[in-house]
Amino acid sequence: TQNSVDYDLLVIGAGPGGYHAAIRAAQLGLKVACAEMGNVGGVCLNVGCIPTKALLHAGEGIRGAKHAEDFGLTFGEPKMDIAKLNGWKDGIVKRLTGGVSALFKANKVTHLVGEARFLDAHTVQVGGQKVTARSFIIATGSEPANLPPFPVDQQKIVDSTGALMVPDPLPKRFLAIGAGAIGLEFAQVYHNLGSSVKVIEFAPQVVPAADADAANTFAKILRKQGIAIDLGTKANGFTERDGELHVELEDVTTGEKRVEVYDRVLVAVGRRPRSANLGLEVAGVQVNERGFIGVNKKMQTSTPHIYAIGDVVGNPMLAHKAMKEGLVAAEVIAGKKSEMDVVAIPAVVYTTPELAWVGLTEAEAKAKGYTVKTGNFPLSASGRAMTLGDTDGFVKMISDAKTDLVLGAHIVAPHASDFLSEVGLALEMAATVTDISLTVHAHPTLSESVLEAAENIHKQAIHIM
Ligand code: FAD
Repeated sequence: TQNSVDYDLLVIGAGPGGYHAAIRAAQLGLKVACAEMGNVGGVCLNVGCIPTKALLHAGEGIRGAKHAEDFGLTFGEPKMDIAKLNGWKDGIVKRLTGGVSALFKANKVTHLVGEARFLDAHTVQVGGQKVTARSFIIATGSEPANLPPFPVDQQKIVDSTGALMVPDPLPKRFLAIGAGAIGLEFAQVYHNLGSSVKVIEFAPQVVPAADADAANTFAKILRKQGIAIDLGTKANGFTERDGELHVELEDVTTGEKRVEVYDRVLVAVGRRPRSANLGLEVAGVQVNERGFIGVNKKMQTSTPHIYAIGDVVGNPMLAHKAMKEGLVAAEVIAGKKSEMDVVAIPAVVYTTPELAWVGLTEAEAKAKGYTVKTGNFPLSASGRAMTLGDTDGFVKMISDAKTDLVLGAHIVAPHASDFLSEVGLALEMAATVTDISLTVHAHPTLSESVLEAAENIHKQAIHIM
């Protein structure tokens, strides 16, 4: 049987982009359906942002307990119930995805279960159903990129999804290939839980998109914690002997090769868009050579009533970018004057300390022709950081010398993501460094480091000699 259902809007994919779009469109009075072939919440809630943060927090508990010895509190060796740890993490995911389903119900968004595929520009097949709609939003996200010599079996060679299931016993030796956010977050999780961890990275710095000073300071701190990091290094392949993985690593500058032994290898070399099986050709939706769907500022594809948002349209592949684009697409479809016109999208590596930034790096600002001024504030001068016993890190603010406008901030600090938003607001409001300096910040807080970095641009920081 064929059910023909008509909606104002059909959203394909219920990840952070898709569910934000569906709910906003429903709030604005549209009749909305959202097709999802897996669990609502997408990568972010199920196998991305949320479960990684749960594991990071658990690992941080162990690090915190060891660290407390510095101030006279000694705990015993941690006892780990790995089944309980995995269960706790899965419980958080379940609560959040249940929350998305409840929001769909409350907003009268129809959840269609199944894989969606365009039959023509106005009809989508979802499972066995044909669904017609006036507008569509493609929010199908992304999946881990392959590294052919390391085929993922989710046991010994894992991608980010496999790495979320902490095995019992823990791998003794854990290798992460790729020092982006995902590789480094898992490196710290496994390190804190008790594995011996190395991260390798092809590029000459960790988190290649980050400001070089911030990335280098960050790498130094992670190394000090005991995580080995080999930069300018690639993994060529491995052989398995007696259950051990003998991995061939190569120094990309000298060509020198060596073999190291691991028990688990994480492949975290990037993500690719999920655009291949959607029937985009019959809908007239164009993708670029890497499979990303091209969109304009209103998030319209080459077929104007079909919109696309989130990871499937390109970098940065971040949940909050997907959410914002989802809201824009929904508002445009509902007839509002909305477009994706943001000054900056924050980026964060959620380790301890965090590496977080928003706006331009120093190199980007110089390349754009600004006369750049920078102001640093080291956490070692922050009273609050001292009370946390975590004084490694800094805030680096970047401004335009001619206008005093804030151009960006790069933070290596615990909880950096929570006080980075201030600089995001400054960027959106075209605030000056002076505006930040004139704002009273609560004492003692880590956020005062942003204030002092701003003051230091004008050589007026109180706590810098
Ligand atoms: P997705 O979340 O990928 O969702 C797409 C959905 O579409 C999926 O549910 C999929 O099942 C569904 N779908 C696909 N094709 C079809 C089809 N044909 N029919 C029906 N349904 C379909 N970002 C952050 O901002 N902060 C973080 O801390 C963070 N941590 C991360 C950690 C890890 C380990 C990973 C892997 C990613 C992390 N990300 C993080 C990135 C973040 O998860 C993504 O940017 C975000 O999920 C993208 O949202 P999306 O809506 O575009 O797509």
